[in-house]
Amino acid sequence: MKTSVIGYPRIGKNRELKFASEKFFRSEITEVELLQTAAEIRKENLLNQKSAGIDYISSNDFSLYDNVLDVAYLFNIIPPRYKELELSDIETFYAMARGYQGDKGNVKALAMKKWFNTNYHYIVPEIDDNTEIKLNGNKPVNEFTEAKSLGVDTKVDIVGPFTLLKLARYTGHKTYKDFVQPLISSYAELFDKLSSAGAQWIQIDEPALVKDLTKEDLELFNQIYDYLLNNKQGLKVLLQTYFGDVRDIYSKLISLDFDGIGLDFIEGRKTLELVRENGFPQDKILFAGLINGKNIWRNNYSKTLEILDELHALNIETVLTTSCSLLHVPYTLENEVALSQDYRKHLAFAAEKLQELHELAKLWDLSQTGDISESAEFTANKQLFCGRINSTDEAVQKRVANISDSDYTRLPEFHEREIIQKEKLGLPLFPTTTIGSFPQTRDVRLNRQNFRKGLISAEEYESFNKQKIADCIKLQEEIGLDVLVHGEYERNDMVEYFGENLSGYIFTEKAWVQSYGTRCVKPPIIWGDVSQKESITVSWSKYAKSCTTKPVKGMLTGPVTILNWSFPREDISIKESTLQIALAIRDEVLDLEANGINIIQIDEAALREKLPLRKSDWYSEYLDWAIPAFRLVHSQVKPETQIHTHMCYSEFTDIIPAIDAMDADVITFEASRSDLQILDSLKENNFQTEVGPGVYDIHSPRIPSVDEIVSALNAMRNRIDDNKLWVNPDCGLKTRGETETKASLINLVKAAEIIRSN
Ligand code: GLN
Ligand code: ZN
Repeated sequence: MKTSVIGYPRIGKNRELKFASEKFFRSEITEVELLQTAAEIRKENLLNQKSAGIDYISSNDFSLYDNVLDVAYLFNIIPPRYKELELSDIETFYAMARGYQGDKGNVKALAMKKWFNTNYHYIVPEIDDNTEIKLNGNKPVNEFTEAKSLGVDTKVDIVGPFTLLKLARYTGHKTYKDFVQPLISSYAELFDKLSSAGAQWIQIDEPALVKDLTKEDLELFNQIYDYLLNNKQGLKVLLQTYFGDVRDIYSKLISLDFDGIGLDFIEGRKTLELVRENGFPQDKILFAGLINGKNIWRNNYSKTLEILDELHALNIETVLTTSCSLLHVPYTLENEVALSQDYRKHLAFAAEKLQELHELAKLWDLSQTGDISESAEFTANKQLFCGRINSTDEAVQKRVANISDSDYTRLPEFHEREIIQKEKLGLPLFPTTTIGSFPQTRDVRLNRQNFRKGLISAEEYESFNKQKIADCIKLQEEIGLDVLVHGEYERNDMVEYFGENLSGYIFTEKAWVQSYGTRCVKPPIIWGDVSQKESITVSWSKYAKSCTTKPVKGMLTGPVTILNWSFPREDISIKESTLQIALAIRDEVLDLEANGINIIQIDEAALREKLPLRKSDWYSEYLDWAIPAFRLVHSQVKPETQIHTHMCYSEFTDIIPAIDAMDADVITFEASRSDLQILDSLKENNFQTEVGPGVYDIHSPRIPSVDEIVSALNAMRNRIDDNKLWVNPDCGLKTRGETETKASLINLVKAAEIIRSN
């Protein structure tokens, strides 16, 4: 049995690429030095895979920033505003990724979006009517040749034309149809170059095939691959899919002249069934994605071998591979020196997954001629799955089992609460507030760091934060905001902070996963049943409240977001884990309420993240439990307690009824960058919840003028009832500087005063 890896993490074992890129952006190192670091990472990745015995290793899976941006750039999909800056190649590439501000001009970055159902973000290619698609570089060829010179004969990985055309934005009158032919000719030209350079295999990644496909999509697919498969230029073509199954196109795929087809057996619920029912042709290789590329648990060898046996019995030539690129898991467990062996033995990051692939392939070979039940690797693996892996807590399980309908229902209903709250809180029309965090300046981060390292005492740590809170409250009072916050100085990250303080989680030190460009996240691992050990946020919120007579909003992260940004367990469903987290956060909500905090915000920044890729699964597979899980958190509060929620995006036009069904009293979201279209949809859908569409963009240091905010508010008033409209920025202020924050908020309050008086 041979093995394959779709792609490998590229940020570097110790985030070398991140640090080198950031130095390059600050002009502290040269382009040559940056590229040197990149080449070293590629070399290490290749040699690691080779020495682990992987047969099909990818090249060109590396990227300096993002691999969708790489193909856009490769095929000359470069909007004129970036070309006009007349920068060097690499600077143009980074201008598209990050924007450019300097002596040659001032241009914003291209949009960024989540890559399918992951927390990785890609750069959205932008195509206008004048875009001239053509082969404009040599990256895939260069990286293939580089690998070859290191003694590794690779398959060349590239994002496929179908996925590229589906993900691009079209800003002119032309549609994707106008670009198909030039694009596929360019791919064919690339094939030719690769073939001349000695490549044997190309791996074309087409994850867009796992979504619901329309008739037009199928036509597009046919047009692309009828052409490309007639122009293989001597290459063998592996069509690689992942993140789901290809139920809409499986029969078509197996009828075409691909040399290999890669299918995801982990997230593809129907993959095995499709293979069983339709068979798989003898002239092709099935790349069976059986090692989970998205989660960090050890593979269960018996189960995997069983599937491999079944494929073999069906006479299918199979290569064992990962379910998707290993980009979505951390580098290696070797970095986790503090984690005890009891935990480690159950985990596999990218490097350990290589060993699993190799071991499994060897075991399978052995099983063809003999008995593997005696083999050391097999027995060791079997033992891992004998007892329980994850720790359990009966009390938590009982609580979940006892959840009843009334736990999901907040009473009285919204309209009644709205009246009660208006009277109780006595807020002015167009109340002003912020989303929670205030600038996390150096001293704030240092205070946390010093405490973590044991350099300062708990008292010192606390008194620093209290001073910060007191100052923050004073600042908000001076500015004239109506609903105040404590500033979140104690939090590193909105999910890691709660993970660290709930029982049931374990933590890693260096298990970074690329989120976008040079940004990485370190998702905590859900190890067992989750509960609240003791109240987490109450002391900070209470202290903030003691500093003012104005209302202070308590600040929590919601259960769906906590789950979506953690590595989930595999022994229970994510629904069950989410309900456990919801009950823990509910305890926190009730603690806050009991301590006099009568406005509580429960952030659901990542609610949309695990929305299934197929629309037909949205409710049944996800929203039908995710939305009730949110209601579970707040259903027991008093009618006069006002529940807020916040989302970092306004892309919920298609799920507005679900958002309303969260039954929050107020929702804030990003709207400053979008075209207010969402507000029309809210009106059409008769949205009940009060809303605070962000009036300015906190992702930029620019200070919005009073006039600008007034006109944004007036546009909102055309679509939202005056008594339902809140005034706030579009997200937390933690990444901003103090000066611009104060100036922006002063203008925000002035703008609210102006519209109140008209
Ligand atoms: N309350 C959080 C903050 O203000 C929300 C962050 C977010 O939505 N990403 O930072
Ligand atoms: Zn946000």
